[in-house]
Amino acid sequence: MVIVNKYIYKCVNCGETYDRNDIFYVCPKCYDPDIKGSPPKGILKVKYDYSAIKNKASGISLFKNIISNSLLDLLPIQSIENQSFLKVGNTPLYQMNVLENEKLPFQLYLKDDSQNPTYSFKDRASNLVSAWAKEHTIDTIITASTGNAGSSLAGICASQNQKAIIFIPASAPKAKLTQIVMYGAMIIPVDGTYDQAFDLSIKVTNKFGLYNRNTAFNPFTIEGKKTVSLELYEQLNFQVPDRIFVPVGDGVIISGVYKGFEDMLELGIIEKIPEIVAVQAEGSNNIISNLDSDNFVSKPSNTIADSISVDIPGNFYMARDFITNYSGKSVSVTDEEILTASKILSSNYGLFMEPAASAAFAGFYKYFQCNKINDNSKNIVLLTGNGLKDLNAVQSKIVIPEAIEPNIEKLKDLIKTFRKF
Ligand SMILES: *Cc1c(COP(=O)(O)O)cnc(C)c1O
Ligand SMILES: [Zn+2]
Repeated sequence: MVIVNKYIYKCVNCGETYDRNDIFYVCPKCYDPDIKGSPPKGILKVKYDYSAIKNKASGISLFKNIISNSLLDLLPIQSIENQSFLKVGNTPLYQMNVLENEKLPFQLYLKDDSQNPTYSFKDRASNLVSAWAKEHTIDTIITASTGNAGSSLAGICASQNQKAIIFIPASAPKAKLTQIVMYGAMIIPVDGTYDQAFDLSIKVTNKFGLYNRNTAFNPFTIEGKKTVSLELYEQLNFQVPDRIFVPVGDGVIISGVYKGFEDMLELGIIEKIPEIVAVQAEGSNNIISNLDSDNFVSKPSNTIADSISVDIPGNFYMARDFITNYSGKSVSVTDEEILTASKILSSNYGLFMEPAASAAFAGFYKYFQCNKINDNSKNIVLLTGNGLKDLNAVQSKIVIPEAIEPNIEKLKDLIKTFRKF
């Protein structure tokens, strides 16, 4: 049995709670849509009736019960029938023993979320938002995106016979723009920044009464993203990992990862939250650089990792609360380190990732050089997006050799340089 009528919203700023019967995006008391230069306050967290869920069972048997009900006790939807038929989530977790030919003294796992239907982690959120819309007979969903949220919503909506409207900076990587068009969404390239696309999408949402998936606005994106944490716990045979490296832009994925563990903590399934390491690009680390400051200061972002290039992180306050309350850590990595990490992931493991995902691995690499990681500790790197989404980013790191004449003599010399037969 799944517990119905099961969630409320709670403002992370003022603590006010709201009933779920209306569409609620943000706290009407705290959220200022016209705020400029600093992150919005009043993002909502979804809270479930944890004591009712706890009545069903406890510990691992409660967890297994929740899994066997497709997580419905911990999602804002009533049935999974309205989700996409595409396979979202349940992505592979690979254990690696070796890095650059050296045996690793601890456990390293790579969670490959580039294997989602539109090749990024964002599908976890789009699938849930789309299912919720279906349950409420809403057929059009709108979002602003730097690239992946848009290509994800477009793909998921295509599979669900829903319409998607995507506001995206015209400068987004070509592959992401192409995906959106191929999936048949209405694409609105904006000659401006993501922040401007975001503002425009909110205005259109209000004016036409549309349903909006914007990240750091629609609270269900966090609920969709948190599924990764329950999956990790199951894939690790009901053990909490010690450390998870998460790439951070707006701070929604990291909040989702925390929320998944926090729900399990509330239910008494687990006893501790893992150490979560927020990884940002040095050229866009507006969450990390403001963790300890009272007044938010934004540095203009400049990094090749477009998916984590954010001037004003939309979910800054929630992400900071999570990191502070649960003793999270942070690492900034340079674009050069991101590109090196991308090459290592590809050539060591066959995992070609986009820069934002490679940043998480670069963060792990840096952390591991500077800190003692306990033997036998379980360390996870969250790989959030596929490398084919941004081919331009890695061009400076590679050389595609000149074409040869199709002639066996020429080929012999060439092959000798590569491999001894
Ligand atoms: C969106 C995204 C991120 C960052 O997520 P935030 O919620 O903005 O912090 C990281 N990697 C990829 C591939 C993404 O698409
Ligand atoms: Zn509030």
